[in-house]
Amino acid sequence: MTKKQRALEIIERLKKKYPDSACTLDYDQAWKLLVSVRLAAQCTDARVNVVVEELYKVFPDINALAEAPVEEIERIVHPCGLGNSKARDISACMKTLRDEYGGRVPEDFDRLLALPGVGRKSANLIMGDVFGNPAIVTDTHCIRLVNRMGLVDGIKEPAKVEKELWKIIPPEEGSDFCHRLVDHGRAVCTARTHPYCDRCCLQDVCKKAGV
Ligand code: SF4
Repeated sequence: MTKKQRALEIIERLKKKYPDSACTLDYDQAWKLLVSVRLAAQCTDARVNVVVEELYKVFPDINALAEAPVEEIERIVHPCGLGNSKARDISACMKTLRDEYGGRVPEDFDRLLALPGVGRKSANLIMGDVFGNPAIVTDTHCIRLVNRMGLVDGIKEPAKVEKELWKIIPPEEGSDFCHRLVDHGRAVCTARTHPYCDRCCLQDVCKKAGV
């Protein structure tokens, strides 16, 4: 089985297993996902969803956040950890959206990547979830699982994993595939030394590398 054949089989099985996989950060506008994804670094999505409710009660739109004192943003986002740098990034990002993009989130990967606090993972998430464009989100679950599955070989660096996956994942499948990896990584292919291979729907196609 080639890597591409394995990838296609895994995609189909995960579709059946997790038909409704989606981003677990709550948002109803693109800029809110930018805020949430910055807060989600080293924090659970569940906690971020609680914290942003409080944040948007005080600062309900891009202009309000752009004008807010950084210390005030930091006070509210503190429970997500790394409060100071996250608050600074959110403030700078909202100022950029207001001043350079007329309050819109740009539908362009490189422009997203140039926003304060936005890395490849976040830019891909926005491209896929907000705009429905091809995207591959290499978070911790994705990197662990694609290595175990044998879709990449011992690559841990997110940008390199992304590059390898682009070669074997059909572009239109990338975004949903990555959401399903998160669900599978939480439920079955956990970060434990021994994931639950005995009850995994992929056990006959997975290489179980390093397991
Ligand atoms: S077979 Fe095991 S290592 Fe492979 S995806 Fe399933 S749980 Fe993970």
